[in-house]
Amino acid sequence: MRNLWMELMPDEYVPSVYAIDLDKLRDGGRRLLLSDLDNTLVPWNDEAVPAALSAWYKRVVASGMDLCIVSNNRHPRVSEFAQQLGARAIPAAKKPKPQAFLAAMASFDAAPEQTVMVGDQLFTDIRGARRLGIYTILVLPVSNREWWGTRLTRLAERAAFKMLERRGLVRPIQEGGRE
Ligand SMILES: [Mg+2]
Repeated sequence: MRNLWMELMPDEYVPSVYAIDLDKLRDGGRRLLLSDLDNTLVPWNDEAVPAALSAWYKRVVASGMDLCIVSNNRHPRVSEFAQQLGARAIPAAKKPKPQAFLAAMASFDAAPEQTVMVGDQLFTDIRGARRLGIYTILVLPVSNREWWGTRLTRLAERAAFKMLERRGLVRPIQEGGRE
């Protein structure tokens, strides 16, 4: 993929992880779900696993897929969260670099065509996965609370969103219950 916009264009854009059609993914041959953590599964730096997220994780497993959290956040925060949830994780992932995506796929013996990446950021989650040929799902950020570095990235992201919207990306309607 030579064009930047193609690297940034998600395959799907949904309000939250809860809106992901797990059966459709599984029926399409996907069996590994990689997910960002902060503002994708929970608000940034939240330590507790919400009951709804635990229930969602059970649905992922029941659908026949594995979940691996791939987060750029630091080791103890990510590992402790994943442990509570019961899933595996790769902390300090340095997305959009390919290493963490490749390590996650290797540890589940999954090919890019069998893998899905879910995240709330274009430049890290979507771009990193797209470059490897992984199917991508963008979600609206769970909260407005963010790391300062992410706030800076969001400024550039806004311009990218405009470019993508001109090429057909449609922002989903916000679900209720956002903090
Ligand atoms: Mg995030």
